[in-house]
Amino acid sequence: MIPRLVVASKNPDKIAEIEDVLASSGLADEVVRGLSWPDVPETGDTLEENALIKARAVVESTGLPVIADDTGLEVAALGGAPGVYTARFAGPDATYEDNVVKMLTEMEGVAERSARFRTVVALAFADGVEITAEGALDGVISSSQRGDRGFGYDPIFEVEGVTLAEMSTAEKNELSHRARAIRALAREVGL
Ligand code: IMP
Repeated sequence: MIPRLVVASKNPDKIAEIEDVLASSGLADEVVRGLSWPDVPETGDTLEENALIKARAVVESTGLPVIADDTGLEVAALGGAPGVYTARFAGPDATYEDNVVKMLTEMEGVAERSARFRTVVALAFADGVEITAEGALDGVISSSQRGDRGFGYDPIFEVEGVTLAEMSTAEKNELSHRARAIRALAREVGL
């Protein structure tokens, strides 16, 4: 069990999900909130590189153990895109809505709609120890937005007929790519 762990994200939606999953993972005693650090540019070519870049930068800034994640949406009909560019799919300053609308437009009339969310989490310590783990969730891109929970692409990512935005937080955290990655990380550190 890590006594005090920092979640390297400034996205309140993501922090809430990570804290929720951490609470049941046995990975950390306490999540430290209220710290700040300079913005970290995600310049890596892979989810793993980006997760490690974020984790290392926040370790350097806080001196505490840090968990960071990076997520990509891989759409089969788009050759696995947007992948590592998921946040910037509709442009450098894209909002959630811009990205969702672009995805629905790109997928208009496309029959093969399978997609996968992939998350890599990185745990980093001040002594240089780093551990990564991955989680994935298979689904399909729906034909329109449904649901008002969650964030990002949740209103158009469907698992067994239900979008992630139609699920309660507990339901999403039971099966999500991010939750699976955090649980895999907890297993890797021997919990
Ligand atoms: P990042 O991991 O914060 O870089 O997220 C990459 C992109 O994926 C952003 O556009 C997020 O909104 C989106 N994203 C990340 N996690 C989720 C999720 O759980 N559901 C829906 N969209 C997500």
